[in-house]
Amino acid sequence: MFNWLRRARREPPSLKPEVRDAVIAAFPFLALPDAADAARLEEIAAGFLRDKGFTPVHGLDADDFMLTAIAMQAALPVLHLGPRAYDDFEEIVIYPGEFQVEREATDEFGIVHDDSGARAGETMAGGPVILGWEEIRRGAQGDGPAFAPVIHEFAHKLDMRNGGVADGIPAFDPKLHAGLDPDDWADELDAAWEAFGGAVEDLEDRFPRSIDPESDEGRAIYERELPLDAYAAESEAEFFAVATEAYFVTPARLRGAFPHLAAMFDAYFRPGRSVG
Ligand SMILES: [Zn+2]
Repeated sequence: MFNWLRRARREPPSLKPEVRDAVIAAFPFLALPDAADAARLEEIAAGFLRDKGFTPVHGLDADDFMLTAIAMQAALPVLHLGPRAYDDFEEIVIYPGEFQVEREATDEFGIVHDDSGARAGETMAGGPVILGWEEIRRGAQGDGPAFAPVIHEFAHKLDMRNGGVADGIPAFDPKLHAGLDPDDWADELDAAWEAFGGAVEDLEDRFPRSIDPESDEGRAIYERELPLDAYAAESEAEFFAVATEAYFVTPARLRGAFPHLAAMFDAYFRPGRSVG
């Protein structure tokens, strides 16, 4: 009779070594070569599991692997910024797969909606992060452009932390980011976004008419020709989130296409650390 109560009071999930290892095997970009970085990732992920509330919906049976996979990927962008960068929200809602949202794009309330087929996540300023597990799992397999919906949505969180609006300019920490100027950041991001948008348009112009861009073959062309998922062309906010995915998942690819942007991301995500 009190089963539901017992479930609700269940101990918060902890970071178990065997689950951690399984998550790293599934998401190889979480294997950090630096031992101190790896330990820090684990510590932040464990704190995330302890402090955040996870709400599986639509009958999803969220197990330790899922929660740990989300926590470890969420920890990656704040590895050197610290977990306080996420202290303006608590809840992570997890759908089994893609879910429907009825609003569009980034609205005046700073709500970012990713409802195109390939992306399934939603982030609200000060509110929950909403993710679809099937999309997260799919991101584990790709070898094309980075596809990491967890990193994507948490990049939006960092972006919205200053003023609640997603504009591609994340919150700067006065101590860690003293050398970063918001105007310079906006200029650099804008230039990269414009260049990328031009590359997408160029590809669309010369795209073979006989191939459906939505087919596997069509998608393979996009993946081969573009350094980032084409979705990055949507807006500066989406460009920042998609480029952040690439920064952590396919860094060489991002660095090759946008060296200045990558150097700026180094200064933001790895402040005070020498970059090799
Ligand atoms: Zn997005």
